[in-house]
Amino acid sequence: MTHASPNASRSTLLPYGKQWIDEEDIAAVVEVLRSDWLTTGPKVEEFERAFAAFTGTAHAVAVSNGTAALHAAMAALRIGPGDEVIVPAITFVASANCVVYQGGTPVFADVDPATLLIDPVDAELRITGRTKAIVAVDYAGQPCDYEALRAIASRHKIALVADACHALGGAWRGKPVGALADLSTFSLHPVKPITCGEGGVITTDDADLARAMRVFRSHGISTDFRQREKQGAWAYEMVSLGYNYRLTDLQCALATTQLRKLPAWIARRQEIARQYDAAFAHLPEISPLAVCSGVSHGYHIYVVRLAAGIDRGEFFKALRAEGIGVNVHYAPVHLHPFYRNHLRTGPGLCPMAETVSAQILTLPIFPRMTDEDVADVVAAIRKVLGRGPSR
Ligand SMILES: *Cc1c(COP(=O)(O)O)cnc(C)c1O
Repeated sequence: MTHASPNASRSTLLPYGKQWIDEEDIAAVVEVLRSDWLTTGPKVEEFERAFAAFTGTAHAVAVSNGTAALHAAMAALRIGPGDEVIVPAITFVASANCVVYQGGTPVFADVDPATLLIDPVDAELRITGRTKAIVAVDYAGQPCDYEALRAIASRHKIALVADACHALGGAWRGKPVGALADLSTFSLHPVKPITCGEGGVITTDDADLARAMRVFRSHGISTDFRQREKQGAWAYEMVSLGYNYRLTDLQCALATTQLRKLPAWIARRQEIARQYDAAFAHLPEISPLAVCSGVSHGYHIYVVRLAAGIDRGEFFKALRAEGIGVNVHYAPVHLHPFYRNHLRTGPGLCPMAETVSAQILTLPIFPRMTDEDVADVVAAIRKVLGRGPSR
């Protein structure tokens, strides 16, 4: 536990993200504990149906976490040795690791410095005869330019995957996140838009891909236990190599009650973002990332760029000392030691990502944050910058 300094803006650390569990959520989990099913039972199907309806897709497949969702997507697309997959340089490492799990090669694309979303022009330049897919990351909760990305995918006959782990509840030109790519992946980790502890989901309109992912999440076995029980049969066949990536009924009950609250939570996140935007409009040292037109931003995180001349390390430390739980999302993936060794990547590969990632800072945003919390963050930033109170 980090303790703030004595005359800090806050006495306890305000985290950058936090779950919201209410009595309805708790009751839903307790009900499952009293039932016959703990793991794969009726709550999994109920959650998958609700999630597919929410995202306007034909199929939702629940898995054990967002990383498993990405792995299942890569497996369903039959990514393997020799295949390349384009991944943006600014994302959580799992967006690239899923390609390596399958023996494929992530190829890093640069990002738009205004939004930190994958730059479609740069992504297309990195396509070769071996490219099988693009993983587009809806960074911070803002959907990518799916018009440009879909055009590239169809021109080169490759798959488009959305790593939408930040963006559940967002939309692009009126279409919900989840329905914008061939496959979209989600995480249900506590800092994400909704949670069930650990969890993941893949959405798709393609019945074959959905079937392949259901087999993949349960050891590569072609029928599940409940199907066999219904048929009165004991025999099962393992048709491919799979994993145990199942989500439990306990978790699906919680995820289902969480999903009902999401629209109100997204509205609150957007309201907090408007308050930050207004506060920083007159502060030249702090520039929020750009939001594109036609976008409903999910604001999983609120990210600002610091003006040249501000030492991010010092600014970060000073805000933490004020009790503000700032963070950094992310260092470029291709500069992690694993990728430097595995793919011989290094500085210069994605210049925009490398420059901007050194200037960004994530500020606290979560639905339960109060207007007073937002004002505390703004006041702490003004204090650290040596500016007076705004009012
Ligand atoms: C959280 C996250 C993941 C991984 O999800 P887990 O549920 O933690 O495995 C993958 N990609 C992005 C962009 C994420 O933010």
